[in-house]
Amino acid sequence: MLLSAPLLGNEYNEDYFFGVKSDYERLLRNESTQFRSAWLKVIEGFELFYLNRPDSPLAPEAMYNAGDAYFRLYRLSSKDYDLEQSLSTFRTLPRRYADSEKAPDAAFQAGRLYEEEKNDILLAARLYEQLIERYPRSQAAVDALQRLDAMGDIVRSPANVSTRRPSATRSTVPTLEDPAVVKPTQVAATNPVPSPAASEEVELIKVDTFSNAEYTRAVLRFNGFDGDISLKKHWLREDRNLGMPPRLFVDLFNVRKSEKLENLELDNTQLQGIRMAQYDRETVRVVFDINSVSDFKVFVLQNPVRVVVDLISEPEPDPMAVTRNLLVAAKTPPPVAQSIQAPAAPPAAGSRGGEVLLAERSKLPASDEPEPLQLASLEPRAISLAKQLGLGVNTVVIDAGHGGRDPGAVGFNGLLEKDVVLDIALKTAAYLRRNSDLTVHLTRETDKFLPLEARTAIANTKRADLFVSIHTNAFRDPNVHGLETYYLNITSDPRAMEVAARENAISQKSVSDLQNILNDLMLNTKINESAILAQVVHNDMFHGIRRHHPQARNAGIKKAPFYVLIGAQMPSILIETGFITNPREGTLLAQESYRQALAENIAKGIIRYAENH
Ligand SMILES: [Zn+2]
Repeated sequence: MLLSAPLLGNEYNEDYFFGVKSDYERLLRNESTQFRSAWLKVIEGFELFYLNRPDSPLAPEAMYNAGDAYFRLYRLSSKDYDLEQSLSTFRTLPRRYADSEKAPDAAFQAGRLYEEEKNDILLAARLYEQLIERYPRSQAAVDALQRLDAMGDIVRSPANVSTRRPSATRSTVPTLEDPAVVKPTQVAATNPVPSPAASEEVELIKVDTFSNAEYTRAVLRFNGFDGDISLKKHWLREDRNLGMPPRLFVDLFNVRKSEKLENLELDNTQLQGIRMAQYDRETVRVVFDINSVSDFKVFVLQNPVRVVVDLISEPEPDPMAVTRNLLVAAKTPPPVAQSIQAPAAPPAAGSRGGEVLLAERSKLPASDEPEPLQLASLEPRAISLAKQLGLGVNTVVIDAGHGGRDPGAVGFNGLLEKDVVLDIALKTAAYLRRNSDLTVHLTRETDKFLPLEARTAIANTKRADLFVSIHTNAFRDPNVHGLETYYLNITSDPRAMEVAARENAISQKSVSDLQNILNDLMLNTKINESAILAQVVHNDMFHGIRRHHPQARNAGIKKAPFYVLIGAQMPSILIETGFITNPREGTLLAQESYRQALAENIAKGIIRYAENH
């Protein structure tokens, strides 16, 4: 009956942990000869253990080992992504398991990584000081003190802290976009790009934008073309002589511009506007005239093909934020500052001539590099203060999957996923509104079609603090059932990849292609926070629903590359509330009372997360 299903949630037991640990020890005996996939497998094993068994006494050790393995992998791979994952894991451990003996060790590792790998000695010093204060009797505190002494006095001067600029290493900017190398990036490069047949004209027909003060997402849409698209992106710095602002431009090959498509005047925080022109017979150039952008990402989604451009700028330094930060700084010694986004300076690039789209428009002055918004780190003692000051979780976006012409999975007795999940989403939102102070938005409240990239954009433009996408699962074998919750990451689990393929409405091969570029897209995203949100909500949902569904199977917390989660700026998860193709679960999902129970337990998990973060 259980077929070749992956591990059940309740099989992440001690034996599982020690199995992963012995794999890890074997790997460490021969560190440099191991493939990346071997490292990722061990890391995934530790992650799945601590996510699915958060209360196990072994969970902190699993988390520590995951951070350690990511660091060792980083030394071999030099991928920023691996370093960021290691850092994020080491910084999360003392927050989750403050009383664990691994907590001071993890805090020390975080400081060391900032000091040695990111050259951010000021932040490193704050972390060391905090560690010494919190765990004065640990060996890690002794080590931290030695490090501090070696750094000298400069790092302890308060003046340095209050005026520090974001990390000089700029390591939060994806290397792919590193403007120092105006390197053409072939998206889907692993996949030789078939030129569309001459008869198959690919036409750029529409550009949609979503924006708020900190964020713009532009989506380039084509005439229903559904294959690979080849593009190059370039960054040009401001040219004062020509009166040109900084520009990002994207060349689309084997594409024609629709004659009806007109340039867009936007004049929002990030962009003056977007211009499109036929650069040569086969190339359309799309130019983004920049007002102020600190980070950007360009990626391709498929079926139908669309190119998504995310542009992020530093938040406005609003007076309230300054007051809040002063308050936090005054009350939270020492003020560990965490810049929440990439440095303000827009990437500068070697200039390239030959840009065809010159426009006589007055450029706006270059941004004055606003001070980055400093958030008090969410260390335990800061939580209640952060909460009081409105820095915690205030706004939640609930996303009902599919809708309109996209029915989602078709289940037992013709039940449609889009109807089931809309009702669960509405009930979840209603419960949250009645039982918490959270502001709740829904991506859709009716049976309408909404593209996946629009859903993330809604969450970002609403400045959501959490994003929860609700789905039902499906499988060709009707015996398969269970509840599982996902967060965005690459995966080696074929079943998880299959779920991602179905939810993204793309082939499994396209999922593999997506995994190849996901590392770069995921820098600056809240992966660890998402994993923890998944854990809290999933556990509450699963344990709450057993009263209504005694045979419920806990399929656990998993990770996979979902379109709907890519580019979300807040912790975000995708819940598979059950298999609509299983007769028992499908029958339950068709019952309003069961959907109400699911919604309430999902909402309780969201509230519990919000209260603690
Ligand atoms: Zn779905």
